[in-house]
Amino acid sequence: MKNVLRDRAGFSLPEFLAYASISRAIRPYRRVPHFAIGIVLENWERKTSYVQAAVMFIDKRSDHRFQDHVKIFDENRSDHHIEAVMDMLQHKQTIIFFRSEDAIPEDLRFALDLVVKIEPPDIRQVRGVVRWGYKTKVTDDQAAALINCDWRRLKLAMTWGRPMPRVLAIVEKMVQAGAPSVTSAPSQTGEVLADIRLEDMEGYGDAKVWGLDLARDLDDWRSGKITWDDVDKGVLLSGPPGTGKTIFAKALAATCNAGLVVTSYAKWQAKGYLNDFLKAMQRSFQEARKNAPCILFIDEIDAFGSRDCGSTQNESYDTKAINGLLEQLDGLEGREGVIVVAATNNPHKIDAAILRSGRLDQQVKIPLPDLKARTAIFRMHLRGELDEGRCRCLAELSEGVSGADIQKIVRNAHRRARRLRRPVELADVLLYLPIPAQIPPETLRVNAVHEIGHAIVGVVLGMELVSVEISSRILLTTQNQPVGKATFGRRPWARRTKAHYLDAIAMGLGGMAAEQLLLGCHDDGVAGGRGSDLYDATRTAILLDRSFGMGDGLASLGDISEAPMIDVNRMDRSVLARVDKVLNEQLLRATEILERHRPACERLVDALVAGLELSGQEVLDALDADGRVEPRAVRSG
Ligand code: ADP
Repeated sequence: MKNVLRDRAGFSLPEFLAYASISRAIRPYRRVPHFAIGIVLENWERKTSYVQAAVMFIDKRSDHRFQDHVKIFDENRSDHHIEAVMDMLQHKQTIIFFRSEDAIPEDLRFALDLVVKIEPPDIRQVRGVVRWGYKTKVTDDQAAALINCDWRRLKLAMTWGRPMPRVLAIVEKMVQAGAPSVTSAPSQTGEVLADIRLEDMEGYGDAKVWGLDLARDLDDWRSGKITWDDVDKGVLLSGPPGTGKTIFAKALAATCNAGLVVTSYAKWQAKGYLNDFLKAMQRSFQEARKNAPCILFIDEIDAFGSRDCGSTQNESYDTKAINGLLEQLDGLEGREGVIVVAATNNPHKIDAAILRSGRLDQQVKIPLPDLKARTAIFRMHLRGELDEGRCRCLAELSEGVSGADIQKIVRNAHRRARRLRRPVELADVLLYLPIPAQIPPETLRVNAVHEIGHAIVGVVLGMELVSVEISSRILLTTQNQPVGKATFGRRPWARRTKAHYLDAIAMGLGGMAAEQLLLGCHDDGVAGGRGSDLYDATRTAILLDRSFGMGDGLASLGDISEAPMIDVNRMDRSVLARVDKVLNEQLLRATEILERHRPACERLVDALVAGLELSGQEVLDALDADGRVEPRAVRSG
């Protein structure tokens, strides 16, 4: 900040704050001569301040020459505008502002070195900027007022030479007067869902049943028929991203006639140190209590992690954060009238204590929407512009997509229709549907061999196989779709010994072993990056050796489950050789198991190709027919 000219024309506190956010978000590019950066701005109404700040970032000494290096991208404007923005990329340094990630055209995204989302400044930043720029201190509350107030009004309040305390007094008055702040966070749900109630929503399965029951209980509690002890106090929603967990909380609040406080781990953490984090968390609970009955929605609850996942640098931060949350959930100050709805994409990562009775003891999965739900979601987002038959046709063609995907598809279709200056048509929506592709029979067989490999090795090693399945179709435009899976039951109380991990590695390599055995070689489906079988097995083998004292030595490098492989190798150059040995041994073990059960293996592959899904029991029966002697387990369901 020290090079920023304080008396630069047009610059006042909003621009300084914007400058601070931008330079923090794209700090690594500060000294880079060439870059093209996309900035997604949460508070679109503040774009003018951000553009001024971005121009300053590109050249601190410049006048307006650099204005055309910074552009606001308006996805609703003509193709000519889009081309003009594309042309900008020939400058050495370019910054383009977007309203949302979805608004970035595909081609442009590829051309950008970086796309960052800029959050509103946090309290610490504001205090720092005011101290630096105006040589005065502000309290946390004053800083919060500066963040939340209308920045256009703030500029007015900051008339030249007016002392800061006076500016703050004016801002406070504006806030007290309740003047609607045009800079308040934009509605994420869009106008279609602005007043949505749970009754009108589809695709929520058990979560909807739970929510409607809760609304009845709250009515009974209000009328004194039942006490607070009889009301469910919390629920954990889990499900893939985009299944509408956030919008669920909003609809639930409307149905329950209750207040709503929406927050997340990240929002609490934005305040910085542990103390600030805990205070921010307490404030959210206080706000919810003030508005009781109230739904307190906590997104990304898995970010709290688990206290028993090994020692990390952050352990004491995490532990204290979790303990702080437990204190709030247990409600030393009373939590009457506050229902906590927490959301996660990874329920297994959550500390068991958070899920205990009286806290988030109800767990509900939100699945990807089925045909009926997809029809309703299309209908809702199309606002009646296409009839029921067309909505159903779209739903039939969009198996496997989430509610958020549908919203995006419809938004793109609306945009296209607007450009063509006519109402939306079926063809507009069809254009943006992911393209389903039938998987050819040879590939289907390879996938079946792979999954049966996992299933048989797992069952023979005593794991509880629930089911094994493969897909016959994939959506070409959706990334990272699994083409098959073998699902095993979880055993939370199993002792995680060396044998347990070696079995897990052997099962993980079962797919590769089966491909080699039945097809002569494996393909790159098992290899490569994060999430692949070989990568996961390698990670487990490294942890076994370098974290859990289950390899040659005892010295532990701590929790290195997420550490880049290259760093682990730097820490211990011999680790990969040892890990390779473990992987080879387990691959051999998996291969031997499959060789012993080759006839069953072949029969099961045929059955899976034919039916696309087999239960654990069916796999067991096939192995029994072979006269298998190993231990086994199966779970119904
Ligand atoms: P999540 O929190 O699960 O990632 P969101 O609640 O943010 O998902 O959903 C993103 C958007 O997707 C919502 O604002 C809504 O427009 C749309 N959406 C998702 N699920 C549904 C649904 N069941 N019905 C209608 N719209 C949905």
